[in-house]
Amino acid sequence: MGPLKLAVVGGGPSAFYVASRLLSLVPPAHPSASQLRVHLYDRLWAPHGLVRYGVAPDHPENCVHKFDEAAKDGRLKFFGNVNIGGVPTNASPAALSLPLSTLFKNYTHLLLASGCTVPILHPALPPSDRCVPALSVVHWYTAHPSRPPPPPLDKTSHVSVIGHGNVSLDVARMLLTDPAILQKYDVPEHVLEVLRRSSVKHVSIVGRRGPFQAAFTTKELREMMNLSDASMVPLDPSVLEPLPGETPTRQQTRTLQLLQKGSKNVFGTTPKTWSLDFFRSPTGLASSPESGSLSLSLAHTALDPATRRAVPTGVSSALATDLVVTSLGHRADPAGPLVDPELGHARAAAGRVVGLRNVYASGWAAAGARGVLASTMLDAHAVADAILGDWSGARATTPKEVMASGETVELEGVPEEVEGGVREGTVTTYEEWKRVDEEEVRR
Ligand code: NAP
Repeated sequence: MGPLKLAVVGGGPSAFYVASRLLSLVPPAHPSASQLRVHLYDRLWAPHGLVRYGVAPDHPENCVHKFDEAAKDGRLKFFGNVNIGGVPTNASPAALSLPLSTLFKNYTHLLLASGCTVPILHPALPPSDRCVPALSVVHWYTAHPSRPPPPPLDKTSHVSVIGHGNVSLDVARMLLTDPAILQKYDVPEHVLEVLRRSSVKHVSIVGRRGPFQAAFTTKELREMMNLSDASMVPLDPSVLEPLPGETPTRQQTRTLQLLQKGSKNVFGTTPKTWSLDFFRSPTGLASSPESGSLSLSLAHTALDPATRRAVPTGVSSALATDLVVTSLGHRADPAGPLVDPELGHARAAAGRVVGLRNVYASGWAAAGARGVLASTMLDAHAVADAILGDWSGARATTPKEVMASGETVELEGVPEEVEGGVREGTVTTYEEWKRVDEEEVRR
């Protein structure tokens, strides 16, 4: 077997899960171990992607230890501050930009693990200083290098979060949790300061479909129910009825039971409150110049029994609010490498990018923004298995050859621009990042 010199675009969880699986299936004692190299490129200076900049800080993920272990293997290298293939929407100006062709020339295999970094916007809710994508709030509380401004929480009593996914619940939980509890976690001090001055009293979490179609998971919903300072507005029992003839899944039944039971704190006994507003679809946002308040127009919806889509009933209402956070999911950056604009991610089948030999995709870059970390790990392991299977020659198809051959590639080498960046200190390595991270944790 020739070398397997893999370039990975992205340094987030799916990249590290693929890398650590490859290294553990081809351990140092394996006859082909010396032929394996894995180089991870990330546009940000720090590794771990969504684990660092996507998950709310009160949800620390222990997979970081696994990634640290993988990085101790000398065959893995991380290069931060490197954009591959096109300048992303929120690129750091300091980052080195490399075309994809540079990786084609220097590596025998390529893995796209660049995630979905662009928020999906609602056509009726264009961003403004009082209507912000959830990603901007998430990047604020995780201290993402793009440094979005803090949401105006000191002037906000009512927040409307649009969408019924886990990101919506993360944002709502961060806004409703006592900062004294949050300061036990890795929440930056500048974020805690804004939260301490917050005047948020109520968060409405608005979804266009019902509880059986909600995208959030029970763990996140249970945490909302157990918030120490907040209580949920009890639900109208009619929304908890399944469609005639529909048998709820186990996950749906658990969600239903939690919703029926309601929050641990009785509604009306807490300083803050929240609600899950089902069957409501935003149609516009107007502000009153006199009062400064916002009015969110909502079309009432019902489920189309055949398609399970939300359809308007013809009834509408208005919700007085101070801040709207749209949380409708994410898609891949269209400027990113090998992104199919129609799909919003790469066109891949069983981990292989369609039509290209030795080019793979994993995680959200392959399937769109869905799935929790556990499913990302399983998917990444399957992709690593596909890479190893193809390497050992099991592959029958002959798609287009774009990667370098094993004979021409230099196993230890990195593109000269990257080598220069490491020398000048503009490209970060795992060890450099680790030193800064340990110092931050120490403080
Ligand atoms: P998501 O799970 O895809 O949820 C998006 C929500 O937006 C859905 O309720 C969807 O409703 C709604 N939506 C989409 N387009 C809409 C429109 N035009 N009008 C009204 N509503 C619309 O997205 P996410 O919350 O960003 O999460 C992405 C992934 O990350 C998920 O797999 C999630 O589990 C994961 N994640 C997990 C955690 C965690 O485990 N704590 C934390 C963060 C993220 P419809 O269903 O009706 O389309």
